[in-house]
Amino acid sequence: MPGLKTIKSIQASLAKWYQQEKRDLPWRDTQDPYRILVSEFMLQQTQVKTVIPYYQRWIKSFPTAKILARAHEASVLKHWEGLGYYSRARNLHRAAKMIVKEFQGRVPDTWDEILKLPGVGRYTAGAVLSIAFNRNVPVLDGNVKRVLSRLFCIRENGSNPASENRLWQVAEKLVPSGAPGDFNQALMELGATGCLPQKPLCLLCPLNAVCRAKRDGVQAQFPPKKIKTAAKKIEVSAAVIQRNGKTYIQQRPQKGLMGGLWEFPGGKMEKGESPEKCLEREIMEELGVQVTIKKKIMTIKHSYTQFRVTLHVFICGLKQGRIHTTCCDQWKWVSLKNINQYPFPAANVKILKYLNLNSHIGHTNKS
Ligand code: SF4
Repeated sequence: MPGLKTIKSIQASLAKWYQQEKRDLPWRDTQDPYRILVSEFMLQQTQVKTVIPYYQRWIKSFPTAKILARAHEASVLKHWEGLGYYSRARNLHRAAKMIVKEFQGRVPDTWDEILKLPGVGRYTAGAVLSIAFNRNVPVLDGNVKRVLSRLFCIRENGSNPASENRLWQVAEKLVPSGAPGDFNQALMELGATGCLPQKPLCLLCPLNAVCRAKRDGVQAQFPPKKIKTAAKKIEVSAAVIQRNGKTYIQQRPQKGLMGGLWEFPGGKMEKGESPEKCLEREIMEELGVQVTIKKKIMTIKHSYTQFRVTLHVFICGLKQGRIHTTCCDQWKWVSLKNINQYPFPAANVKILKYLNLNSHIGHTNKS
C-alpha cells in the first residue's frame, strides 16, 4: 500500500491535471444525481464517444426519474437501440420506478440504499455517490484498474473477486475526503486518455514521478493479461418475410439475451446446412409456415462479447400455412413506415437501414 506522502502527492497532482485537462462531457455540466446515474449506466462497457449522443437523446426524452418511470418499455429500449447490453436499459427503467416508489423521486444518497437499485453495483454506486453527493467512496472501472496496477506495480487485473478486492482496497486508500468525485473522475480520465493499454503517454502523465511501472520501464507488464477465451463463430440466417406491403417481426422473450427487443425470425445454421436450408427449417420450426426465398439482400458480420455472428439475410414471401409461434412474446405485421418505432438489436438495425433505403422492396411484394 502507498504511504501517506505518496497518496498526498497523487491526490494533488491529479487534481491539478484534471482541472486543466478534463474533457468537456455533457454529464459533467450537472450535479443532478439522476443524470449522473444515467451516464454511469451508459458508460458501463461503452466508450465515452459512443455514449454522448445516446445520453443527450435520453435526457431530452427522459429528463427526470419520474418521466422515465412512466415511459413504456418499448420507448426506453428504442432510446437504447445500438448501445448494446440491453439489460442496462431495463435495469435503469426499473431503477427509476424504484426511485419514484421508494425514494420519493430522489436518487438515494447512501451506500446501502443506492445498491438496492436494479443494475447498480459497487462501481456505479461509488461513481454516483462521489460525483453527485460528494461521498468519500472509491470507483474501480477498467481504466482505474490499469492505472493502479501500473502506479504501484500490483500484479492484479481484477479477473477474480480476490484480485478485484485488492484493487478496491488501494482505490479506497487514495480517495481524498475533499472532492472525491473529481478525484475519481480524474483517475478514470487518466486511464481513458493517458495511461492507455498499449502505449501509455508517460511523459505527459501527472503521476510519472511516483509511478513504479514507469520508473522500472515495465508498463507493458501491468496489469497482467487476462486469459481470453476465443469468441465462438456462428452463422445465422434471418428472414424478412413480407406480405401485402407489411413485414413480419417478433419480440424476443423478456428474460434472456436482448430480452424485449424485436427481431426478424431465423436461427443458427446446423453443420453442413446452407443458409437457405437453415432459413426454411428455422421458419418452419419457429413459425410453422413454409416460406419462398426471393433473394438474399445482405450478409452482416456482428460481434458480441462471446460470439462472432455472420448473419445471412433473405427477403421471403409466405408459401403455405398460418403463423403460430411460441418462440417469442408477441409478433406483428408492420408497415415500413412504422417498423422504425420498434427497438431492434444492432445487427437487425442494419437490416432496417437496408429496408428503409430500398423501401420499394416492402411495397412491391404482394405475396
Ligand atoms: S506514468 Fe505511465 S504507466 Fe504510470 S500511470 Fe502514468 S501513464 Fe500510466
